[in-house]
Amino acid sequence: MAKVKLQEITRRFESATAIEDISFEVPDGAFWVLVGPSGCGKSTILRIIAGLEAMSEGQLYIGDTLVNQIPARQRDVAMVFQNYALYPHMSVAENLAFGLKMRGVDKVTIAQRIPEVAQILDLSHLLQRKPKQLSGGQQQRVALGRVIVREPKVFLLDEPLSNLDAQLRDETRAQLKQLHERLGITTIYVTHDQTEAMTLADQIVVLNRGCIQQIASPQTIYAQPANRMVATFIGSPAMNLFPVIYSQGKLWLGKQYLTLSQKLEKALQPSEGKAFELGIRPEYITIASRTFAVNAEEAKDNFAQLLMKVEVIEPLGREMLLRGTLIDSNVTITLNARPTWQGKKGDCLSVQLDLDQIFFFDGATGKTIYP
Ligand code: ATP
Repeated sequence: MAKVKLQEITRRFESATAIEDISFEVPDGAFWVLVGPSGCGKSTILRIIAGLEAMSEGQLYIGDTLVNQIPARQRDVAMVFQNYALYPHMSVAENLAFGLKMRGVDKVTIAQRIPEVAQILDLSHLLQRKPKQLSGGQQQRVALGRVIVREPKVFLLDEPLSNLDAQLRDETRAQLKQLHERLGITTIYVTHDQTEAMTLADQIVVLNRGCIQQIASPQTIYAQPANRMVATFIGSPAMNLFPVIYSQGKLWLGKQYLTLSQKLEKALQPSEGKAFELGIRPEYITIASRTFAVNAEEAKDNFAQLLMKVEVIEPLGREMLLRGTLIDSNVTITLNARPTWQGKKGDCLSVQLDLDQIFFFDGATGKTIYP
């Protein structure tokens, strides 16, 4: 096991900069997840750690060793890719043993290690099968097994679950978490799936366009996003964003407005005409009533009301997702209604925003300015 430290790493291509000034340190034994939209640079970071790709600038340490000049084979890291090609003509046992044989590990050690790893991954009963006789999840576990038998210092996993169907993905995700708790190998996991990031990580690194946006625990990322990008990328359905303009003590959304509490006024210190983005997660918007009661002068009980028109209704069983637009604007709004909600498409609703749960982002930079 070992810590992994990236120091000011940049990777430039002729036409583009894939990652820029990336610094973080994954402690020994931790499970960190790199998450971000397609093209944000997460695979590049992983491949640089693995030694499969060169960096343009920066230093990389595994343990206390600077490994910039150390080739992939000698780094003692193991990487599992999305496309985990197993050898089709070999049995599970032979697939597991292959890497060890290639490294010249003696037969006695191999014979000892294979059953141990098979047991950890619940593959003991499948050792004689060929890959095509296995389910997708079982094949994935063999792919993991192939790298676990090597007992590497660091695990690098690049979207390892994305080929599995939803149920298998959930199961394998839970198994991965248990496996990590059991083995304690430093793990860096890349995904664009925020659920995987939230459920697996000790710490999440959110990336966008090659730059780190925030590094924090899943809870902190959700409750205290550093900026608009993190706020809207993490959370499903995504946080609502309403562009608002401050004028004469009120925040205007088209013709609708929210009255600012003294607390908010103090926090935002808005100047006349200043633009903000107000963020609120769908779970903190509730249906007030189906009658119009908008723009009450005082925010009642710390709630503010807006009018919306329902455009799409998505029953999810446990709840109903309502999507629509704010009246007199094309600003979209999403909220969770009770599963028993009886309304229909085209309804006008008065909805309440829980003002204890709102965020404000700078209209120009996207930085979180409240809370
Ligand atoms: P995805 O989730 O789609 O795999 P990613 O976050 O893993 O994306 P990377 O594969 O790390 O993204 O790519 C980061 C950026 O670097 C992208 O904009 C990509 O187009 C660019 N890039 C990657 N390889 C090259 C290359 N060989 N030449 C030029 N640009 C490249």
